[in-house]
Amino acid sequence: MSEPYQHRARKRFGQNFLHDAGVIHRILRAIHAREGEHLLEIGPGQGALTEGLLNSGAQLDVIELDLDLIPILQAKFAGEPRFRLNQGDALKFDFNSLQAAPNSLRVVGNLPYNISTPLIFHLLNNAQLIRDMHFMLQKEVVERLAAGPGGGDWGRLSIMVQYHCQVEHLFNVGPGAFNPPPKVDSAIVRLVPHQVLPHPAKDHRLLERVVREAFNQRRKTLRNTLKALLPASEIEAADVDGSLRPEQLDLAAFVRLADRLALQPEPTSP
Ligand code: SAM
Repeated sequence: MSEPYQHRARKRFGQNFLHDAGVIHRILRAIHAREGEHLLEIGPGQGALTEGLLNSGAQLDVIELDLDLIPILQAKFAGEPRFRLNQGDALKFDFNSLQAAPNSLRVVGNLPYNISTPLIFHLLNNAQLIRDMHFMLQKEVVERLAAGPGGGDWGRLSIMVQYHCQVEHLFNVGPGAFNPPPKVDSAIVRLVPHQVLPHPAKDHRLLERVVREAFNQRRKTLRNTLKALLPASEIEAADVDGSLRPEQLDLAAFVRLADRLALQPEPTSP
């Protein structure tokens, strides 16, 4: 008689499968999915969260990269008409193909930690489709996402994500909840895209540029790090003290700097 298929967790896909029923239940409670909603689960793995998400009565799309997991997911859930399996790379996925109504998609995932930051940025490019996101991430990443100005965790990730979303660090999860256990602590975060941006920049790509430049050398003063982008007089015109370090500035101040940059003439090419 053939053995039932046993999937071996693959490191390169960041596979740490949840097995702690208490933690799974707590995550599902935090998401609180309901009938009629449209959910998207990224990296369903062997379905630890998937089953509870489907039991809510919601419509569920999943995106899984590992081909070996596809038959397992199909065997478990393909009979359910509210379930749709998308095989592929979530980083390249076209979220418009889901035909979700604006501001409706609820995104969920115990994410592979190596792709979590680019994936969040890929999702934020489609923020108008998304109602909220619940992710399991490395705890340090959640601390950076939820940080406020003034400390070492405040940086490019906090600023660019908080530009688009309200961030809530919900709870921490120890390595023992996973199989195999990861080497780091994890945490659940909730990201809710703003309906109206609290600090809209004239051009968010310029905000990204200013923030990247400022935090490239976070120990230096803004006057120094932003020299190539903005003269000291422009930093002052943005109502920012150029002798501060980048971690001392809040989001609104970075947006004011980006808006001064938007007013600068384009450098002429030689
Ligand atoms: N949700 C499952 C759980 O909680 O047990 C699995 C979580 S595991 C940390 C991450 C999952 O994401 C794996 O199933 C992995 O194969 C999948 N994955 C990795 N990279 C991916 C990508 N680029 N796109 C979609 N899924 C990916």
